[in-house]
Amino acid sequence: MTAPQPHVRAVLALGSNLGEREGTLQGAVADLVDRPEVRLLNVSPVVTTKPVGGPPGQPDFLNMVIAVETTLEPLDLLAHCQAVELAHHRTREVRWGARTLDVDIISYGSVTSADPVLTLPHPRAAGRAFVLYPWSLMDPQATLAGESVAALAAAAPDMAGIAHVQDVPQGQEP
Ligand code: ATP
Ligand code: CA
Ligand code: CA
Repeated sequence: MTAPQPHVRAVLALGSNLGEREGTLQGAVADLVDRPEVRLLNVSPVVTTKPVGGPPGQPDFLNMVIAVETTLEPLDLLAHCQAVELAHHRTREVRWGARTLDVDIISYGSVTSADPVLTLPHPRAAGRAFVLYPWSLMDPQATLAGESVAALAAAAPDMAGIAHVQDVPQGQEP
Protein backbone atom coordinates (compact mmCIF):
# COMPACT_ATOMS: atom_id res chain seq x y z
CA MET A 1 0.00 0.00 0.00
CA THR A 2 1.15 3.49 -0.72
CA ALA A 3 1.41 5.92 2.15
CA PRO A 4 -1.45 8.39 2.37
CA GLN A 5 -0.67 11.77 0.84
CA PRO A 6 -0.85 14.81 3.07
CA HIS A 7 -3.97 16.86 2.62
CA VAL A 8 -3.43 20.56 2.08
CA ARG A 9 -6.06 23.26 2.27
CA ALA A 10 -6.07 25.54 -0.74
CA VAL A 11 -8.18 28.58 -1.60
CA LEU A 12 -9.19 29.05 -5.23
CA ALA A 13 -10.73 32.20 -6.75
CA LEU A 14 -13.11 31.95 -9.71
CA GLY A 15 -14.32 34.74 -11.96
CA SER A 16 -16.52 35.03 -15.04
CA ASN A 17 -17.88 37.98 -17.00
CA LEU A 18 -18.95 36.43 -20.27
CA GLY A 19 -21.55 33.92 -21.25
CA GLU A 20 -23.64 32.02 -18.80
CA ARG A 21 -21.67 33.32 -15.85
CA GLU A 22 -23.48 31.56 -13.02
CA GLY A 23 -23.63 28.29 -14.92
CA THR A 24 -19.94 28.59 -15.73
CA LEU A 25 -19.01 29.12 -12.09
CA GLN A 26 -21.26 26.30 -10.94
CA GLY A 27 -19.87 23.95 -13.57
CA ALA A 28 -16.32 24.97 -12.77
CA VAL A 29 -16.72 24.22 -9.07
CA ALA A 30 -18.16 20.82 -9.93
CA ASP A 31 -15.30 20.14 -12.35
CA LEU A 32 -12.62 21.29 -9.88
CA VAL A 33 -13.74 18.77 -7.28
CA ASP A 34 -14.64 15.99 -9.74
CA ARG A 35 -11.58 13.92 -8.86
CA PRO A 36 -10.62 12.08 -5.69
CA GLU A 37 -7.56 14.25 -5.03
CA VAL A 38 -9.65 17.40 -4.55
CA ARG A 39 -12.38 17.69 -1.94
CA LEU A 40 -14.66 20.67 -1.53
CA LEU A 41 -14.53 22.18 1.95
CA ASN A 42 -16.34 25.49 1.59
CA VAL A 43 -17.99 27.73 -0.98
CA SER A 44 -18.38 31.52 -0.80
CA PRO A 45 -21.36 33.50 -1.97
CA VAL A 46 -21.09 34.86 -5.50
CA VAL A 47 -20.41 38.59 -5.61
CA THR A 48 -21.16 40.88 -8.52
CA THR A 49 -18.24 43.12 -9.33
CA LYS A 50 -18.58 46.25 -11.44
CA PRO A 51 -15.93 46.26 -14.14
CA VAL A 52 -13.37 49.00 -13.59
CA GLY A 53 -12.59 50.81 -16.83
CA GLY A 54 -13.05 49.08 -20.16
CA PRO A 55 -15.85 49.74 -22.64
CA PRO A 56 -19.28 50.75 -21.31
CA GLY A 57 -21.92 48.07 -21.19
CA GLN A 58 -19.43 45.40 -20.30
CA PRO A 59 -21.07 42.73 -18.18
CA ASP A 60 -20.36 42.65 -14.48
CA PHE A 61 -18.01 40.01 -13.19
CA LEU A 62 -19.26 37.27 -10.99
CA ASN A 63 -16.60 36.25 -8.48
CA MET A 64 -16.41 33.61 -5.79
CA VAL A 65 -13.88 31.59 -3.86
CA ILE A 66 -13.83 28.00 -2.71
CA ALA A 67 -11.72 26.14 -0.18
CA VAL A 68 -10.56 22.66 -1.07
CA GLU A 69 -8.52 19.96 0.57
CA THR A 70 -6.14 18.38 -1.88
CA THR A 71 -3.41 15.81 -2.21
CA LEU A 72 -2.23 17.37 -5.48
CA GLU A 73 1.14 19.08 -5.51
CA PRO A 74 0.92 22.85 -6.16
CA LEU A 75 1.86 22.65 -9.85
CA ASP A 76 -0.51 19.74 -10.38
CA LEU A 77 -3.29 21.76 -8.79
CA LEU A 78 -2.45 24.66 -11.13
CA ALA A 79 -2.56 22.33 -14.14
CA HIS A 80 -5.91 21.01 -12.94
CA CYS A 81 -7.30 24.56 -12.58
CA GLN A 82 -6.06 25.43 -16.07
CA ALA A 83 -7.64 22.29 -17.51
CA VAL A 84 -10.97 23.33 -16.00
CA GLU A 85 -10.51 26.83 -17.44
CA LEU A 86 -9.80 25.35 -20.85
CA ALA A 87 -12.84 23.12 -20.71
CA HIS A 88 -15.01 26.16 -20.09
CA HIS A 89 -13.18 28.36 -22.57
CA ARG A 90 -13.64 25.77 -25.21
CA THR A 91 -17.36 25.47 -24.71
CA ARG A 92 -17.73 29.27 -24.93
CA GLU A 93 -15.06 30.09 -27.46
CA VAL A 94 -17.16 29.83 -30.61
CA ARG A 95 -20.07 31.82 -29.29
CA TRP A 96 -18.34 34.49 -27.26
CA GLY A 97 -14.81 34.57 -28.57
CA ALA A 98 -13.36 35.41 -25.18
CA ARG A 99 -12.52 33.70 -21.99
CA THR A 100 -15.36 33.04 -19.66
CA LEU A 101 -13.58 31.60 -16.68
CA ASP A 102 -10.52 32.44 -14.61
CA VAL A 103 -9.38 30.18 -11.79
CA ASP A 104 -6.51 31.39 -9.60
CA ILE A 105 -4.82 29.64 -6.70
CA ILE A 106 -4.91 32.20 -3.91
CA SER A 107 -3.18 30.10 -1.30
CA TYR A 108 -1.92 26.55 -0.90
CA GLY A 109 -1.46 25.74 2.75
CA SER A 110 1.26 28.04 4.05
CA VAL A 111 3.44 27.55 0.98
CA THR A 112 5.17 30.62 -0.39
CA SER A 113 6.63 30.76 -3.89
CA ALA A 114 8.07 33.53 -6.04
CA ASP A 115 7.98 31.36 -9.17
CA PRO A 116 6.12 33.32 -11.90
CA VAL A 117 4.54 30.07 -13.09
CA LEU A 118 2.91 29.70 -9.68
CA THR A 119 3.33 32.53 -7.21
CA LEU A 120 2.01 31.77 -3.73
CA PRO A 121 0.10 33.31 -2.18
CA HIS A 122 -1.33 34.91 -5.34
CA PRO A 123 0.68 38.15 -5.62
CA ARG A 124 -2.30 40.46 -6.28
CA ALA A 125 -4.95 38.86 -4.09
CA ALA A 126 -4.23 40.99 -1.02
CA GLY A 127 -5.48 44.10 -2.86
CA ARG A 128 -8.52 42.62 -4.58
CA ALA A 129 -11.91 42.94 -2.91
CA PHE A 130 -13.42 40.65 -5.53
CA VAL A 131 -11.31 37.87 -4.02
CA LEU A 132 -11.08 39.03 -0.40
CA TYR A 133 -14.72 39.94 0.18
CA PRO A 134 -16.31 36.62 -0.84
CA TRP A 135 -13.49 34.85 1.01
CA SER A 136 -14.26 36.84 4.18
CA LEU A 137 -17.95 35.95 3.85
CA MET A 138 -17.05 32.26 3.53
CA ASP A 139 -14.54 32.36 6.38
CA PRO A 140 -14.63 35.48 8.57
CA GLN A 141 -11.50 34.37 10.43
CA ALA A 142 -9.42 33.80 7.31
CA THR A 143 -5.95 35.28 7.07
CA LEU A 144 -3.72 35.92 4.09
CA ALA A 145 0.01 36.18 4.80
CA GLY A 146 -0.85 36.84 8.45
CA GLU A 147 -3.39 39.61 7.78
CA SER A 148 -7.14 39.48 8.26
CA VAL A 149 -8.85 38.83 4.94
CA ALA A 150 -11.89 40.85 6.08
CA ALA A 151 -9.67 43.83 6.95
CA LEU A 152 -7.81 43.55 3.67
CA ALA A 153 -11.15 43.49 1.83
CA ALA A 154 -12.36 46.61 3.60
CA ALA A 155 -9.19 48.42 2.57
CA ALA A 156 -9.15 47.22 -1.04
CA PRO A 157 -9.68 49.96 -3.66
CA ASP A 158 -12.30 47.97 -5.60
CA MET A 159 -14.53 47.34 -2.56
CA ALA A 160 -16.95 50.06 -3.72
CA GLY A 161 -17.47 48.15 -6.98
CA ILE A 162 -18.82 45.05 -5.27
CA ALA A 163 -22.44 45.48 -6.25
CA HIS A 164 -24.21 42.83 -4.27
CA VAL A 165 -24.05 39.30 -3.05
CA GLN A 166 -25.97 36.52 -4.70
CA ASP A 167 -27.10 33.29 -3.23
CA VAL A 168 -24.81 30.35 -3.66
CA PRO A 169 -25.95 28.51 -6.81
CA GLN A 170 -27.73 25.32 -5.94
CA GLY A 171 -25.75 22.14 -5.71
CA GLN A 172 -22.48 23.73 -4.68
CA GLU A 173 -22.66 23.11 -0.98
CA PRO A 174 -20.19 20.49 0.18
P1 ATP B 1 -3.95 37.81 -12.46
O1 ATP B 1 -2.88 36.81 -12.19
O2 ATP B 1 -3.50 39.25 -12.24
O3 ATP B 1 -5.23 37.53 -11.76
P2 ATP B 1 -4.94 36.59 -14.84
O4 ATP B 1 -5.59 35.65 -13.89
O5 ATP B 1 -5.80 37.23 -15.86
O6 ATP B 1 -4.21 37.75 -14.03
P3 ATP B 1 -3.79 34.56 -16.41
O7 ATP B 1 -3.59 34.92 -17.82
O8 ATP B 1 -5.01 33.75 -16.06
O9 ATP B 1 -3.74 35.89 -15.55
O10 ATP B 1 -2.53 33.74 -15.85
C1 ATP B 1 -1.22 34.03 -16.24
C2 ATP B 1 -0.26 33.08 -15.56
O11 ATP B 1 -0.20 33.32 -14.17
C3 ATP B 1 -0.62 31.61 -15.62
O12 ATP B 1 -0.17 31.01 -16.80
C4 ATP B 1 0.06 31.03 -14.38
O13 ATP B 1 1.21 30.26 -14.72
C5 ATP B 1 0.50 32.24 -13.62
N1 ATP B 1 0.29 32.20 -12.18
C6 ATP B 1 1.23 32.57 -11.26
N2 ATP B 1 0.77 32.44 -10.02
C7 ATP B 1 -0.51 31.96 -10.12
C8 ATP B 1 -1.50 31.61 -9.16
N3 ATP B 1 -1.28 31.75 -7.85
N4 ATP B 1 -2.68 31.14 -9.63
C9 ATP B 1 -2.91 31.02 -10.96
N5 ATP B 1 -2.01 31.33 -11.93
C10 ATP B 1 -0.82 31.80 -11.50
CA1 CA C 1 -6.98 36.20 -12.12
CA1 CA D 1 -5.58 33.35 -13.82
